[in-house]
Order: sequence, then structure tokens, then C-alpha cells
Amino acid sequence: MADFGVADGEVRTDGEALDAAARDFGGHVSRKPAAVVRPGSVDDVVAVVRWAGEHGMPVSARGAGHSMNGQAQVDGGVVLDMRSLNQVREIGEDRVTVDAGALWSEVAAATIARGLTPPVFTDYLETTVGGTLSVGGVGGTTHRHGAQTDTVLDLTVVTGTGEVVTCSAERNPGLFDAVRAGLGQAGIVVGATIKAQPARGKARCFRLPHTDLRAFTADQRRLVLEGRFDYIEGFAGFTEDGTLAYQVEAAAFADSLSDVDNEELVRGLAHDRDAVEVTDTSYAEFLDRLAPGVALRKETAEWGLPHPWLNVFVPDSAADGFIETVLAELTPADLENFGLVLTYPLRRELLTTPLLRVPDEPLVFLFALLVTADPGDDTAIGRMAERNRRLYEYVLRVGGTLYPIGPPSLDPHQWAAHYGALWPRVEAAKAEHDPRGVLTPRPGLWRTQPITR
Ligand SMILES: Cc1cc2nc3c(=O)[nH]c(=O)nc-3n(C[C@H](O)[C@H](O)[C@H](O)COP(=O)(O)OP(=O)(O)OC[C@H]3O[C@@H](n4cnc5c(N)ncnc54)[C@H](O)[C@@H]3O)c2cc1C
Repeated sequence: MADFGVADGEVRTDGEALDAAARDFGGHVSRKPAAVVRPGSVDDVVAVVRWAGEHGMPVSARGAGHSMNGQAQVDGGVVLDMRSLNQVREIGEDRVTVDAGALWSEVAAATIARGLTPPVFTDYLETTVGGTLSVGGVGGTTHRHGAQTDTVLDLTVVTGTGEVVTCSAERNPGLFDAVRAGLGQAGIVVGATIKAQPARGKARCFRLPHTDLRAFTADQRRLVLEGRFDYIEGFAGFTEDGTLAYQVEAAAFADSLSDVDNEELVRGLAHDRDAVEVTDTSYAEFLDRLAPGVALRKETAEWGLPHPWLNVFVPDSAADGFIETVLAELTPADLENFGLVLTYPLRRELLTTPLLRVPDEPLVFLFALLVTADPGDDTAIGRMAERNRRLYEYVLRVGGTLYPIGPPSLDPHQWAAHYGALWPRVEAAKAEHDPRGVLTPRPGLWRTQPITR
């Protein structure tokens, strides 16, 4: 096997490395690469991309492998394991510069130690900066700050022709817009400068239980529009007696929790006041709040099972009907093994990343059906795939969009529809920055990859 011109890093072709690169959190798609490269430098990334272009071999960057539809996999090609480039390089007054393979948990630790924080985190922190900036990256503070891709000041990118280019809103803006939420099509992100703001030391998190879906979403809308809380998400699931229940999860960040006025924060909401849960933690613990649950899922081996999670954006006007319809067809068995429906509104005007496709209404709901396939049921994945496809079609009919971190897989025609009026820009960016079509084939945007293999 070739060394791809790698000078500082490591080339692996052993079964263990190839098998690991053929797996992701989704666990239902598996494509084995010919090699895995752990770059030791940006020069290594350049060398691999150039080698791949000359030899007609596809390349995908892989972050932490938390995709749910094989997005970072590449059949017979090269996987660049970006985790080897993971330094937090510089922390300034209002920004942090990091390597793309840094985990958000590493960025959080480094910035919080300096009294700062990026404005937006995904719920799970063990994803990489490059991995989430390639898709969007939304979380409970998105209603205040937009997606993670809206908080990026500049990116350093290795394009499909092997050039190292720095881009921002002012400098090479076309590349900047093609790479943010660009699914790895125009370049491999090697570094990013992200906004940082003062971090409050503490978080007070409220779980506000609701028994009625419409009251739950109405409270979420109200909270998002009024901006009372720093963080807002929400969940639906079944109680032990099999009835549906809803919880708004909302948090306030503060230097001192004695400054937080609980009554004022929840005034006028329709939740069950007797069952409110309030948890005080440090801000750092709040960001990492999924860690204990993930540890349990790893202990019970659930973490390694297939997760064909559907993630979509639904326009506000259709959200209640859509959520109601999905929940009506679920049973407690569907949400066994840590299953959950996650849904919360975002303010459209703050979602400014062009390639993060979201419906055009002042509020849009992120809706995520987080399910695990039962390993004892051979038909489970097929049924979940069919349901995902059907729900995606429903979402399209009501003007919603796919958040392409998971299934269903789209064909080139569907991708063109996904990008709508922006599709010619997506095509032009691919032609300009990856003319040989070596980068990130798996999402399947192109009818034929331009390369010959
Ligand atoms: C438990 C869990 C919770 C999650 N919670 C959220 C959430 O709250 N909000 C949210 O928005 N998402 C969430 N996600 C989804 C997650 O953010 C995305 O799947 C993300 O893309 C994963 O990042 P990763 O580092 O694991 O990347 P990978 O899965 O390794 O790669 C993702 C995609 O990005 C590309 N890519 C990776 N690195 C680079 C790079 N340096 N340059 C160019 N392209 C690159 C890959 O080729 C692939 O196409 C969650 C996922 C899990 C498993």
C-alpha cells in the first residue's frame, strides 16, 4: 500500500483500523476503506488529498465517527482520521482557534479554564469541531446564537485540489459558505476560529413537565421568543404507565445562582408546578450533562447497537401536527433502550449558514427520533428505515428539511431538491474546489463521481 506522501503521521491498513473506520454511531451502514491515515500535520492532509486526486481514489475526513448514516465512510478509499490534529491553538478575548480534530469537550475545557466559552454546543461533547461544522451543529443555545456554523469566524481548509486556504465572511467567502454545513464536499477543515464569550460559572436547569403536547410546544415557543432562558430544549417519551409525557428543559447560566429568579423564569407557563425538577451544577457539568447517561449506555452495550436516528427541521406551522402524528404511531417498545423524541424551536433569523437548509418561517422545530434497533429483531432496522423515509416524505410535504446527520440516504435528485435554489452554487463550489470529485463521496450528492477509479 502507498504511503500517500505522509511524512509526519501514520498510515494504517490493518483490519482493526479499517473496521473501526467502517463503523459509526449509526451502526447500520458499513463501508470499508483501503487505508486510514492519521495525519501528523496539515502537510499530511495536503499530501493525501493530492495523492488521491492523482490516483482517482476517494477520501473522507472522519472526526469522532458520530454520524448516523456512514457519512465519513469511504468504500475502498482513504479515511483521514482527523482526531490526530486536535490542538486548541490560541484563546483570545473573544475567540478560540482550534484544530478541526479537537473534540468540543476539549474546546470547552480549555476555554472555560480561561473564563470563556463558545456560544453553542451540541448536546454531546465528544464530537469534533470539523465534524459538527460540516453539518451545522445545533443545541439548546441555538435560539440565542444560531448554529455552531454561525459562530465561526474563519476556517482553514484543504481543498480537493490540495490547496490550503483560509476563508471567512470577508476572505474567500464562497469557500467559507461551501464548507460550513457543506458535508465535506468542498474541502477538509483543518482549523477553525470560533467566537468565544464570557462563561458564567453556574447553570440552573429546570425540567418542566407537561401532559399536553400543544401546551408543551406553546411554552417552548414563548420561552424562545421571550429569551428568558439561555438554553431551551425539550423531550417527549412514555411514562412507566405507558402515557405520553413532555418536558421542557431550560437552563439559566449565572455567575451566582442567587441571582436567578426561579419564579420569574417560569411565570405563566402551563407545566405541572408540583413536579418541576431543578438542578444546579457548574456550567462545565451542565455542558457535559449527557456523560453519565453515555457511560451507562456503554456499560449496557446499547452504545454499540444501531441508531438510525431521524433528524429533521419542521416549520412551526406544521410542528404540532407532525409531532402529534409521529407520537401517535409510537409505542413504549419503540422507545425502549434509552429512546427519546427530542424537539425544540429555533429562531430562523439566527440560522444564517446558507447550506444548513431550514424551513422559511420565523420559528422552526428541530425534531429528532432517537431510537435503537433491537439486536434480537432482524427486521428492526428495515422497519426503522421505512419509517424514517415515510416521515421524511411527510416533512417535505409540510415544507420541512432533513438535518443530514442521519438517515434517510438521498439520491442526487433529492439532494438537488434539498438545496433548492442553492443547488447551482453547490455544484459550482464542487467544480471549483474539488474538480476531481475525490472528497467525501458517501452522502451521494453526485450522480457520478467525476474521478475515474
Ligand atoms: C449522542 C449524539 C448526540 C448528538 N447531539 C447533537 C446535537 O445536539 N446537535 C447536533 O447538531 N448534532 C448532534 N449530533 C450529531 C453530530 O453532531 C454529527 O453527527 C456530527 O457530524 C458528528 O461529528 P463527528 O466529529 O463525530 O464527525 P464524523 O461523524 O466523523 O463526520 C461527520 C461528517 O463530517 C465530515 N467531516 C468530519 N471531519 C471533517 C473535517 N475536518 N473536514 C471536513 N469534513 C469533515 C465527515 O466526512 C462526515 O461527512 C449528535 C450525535 C450523537 C451520536
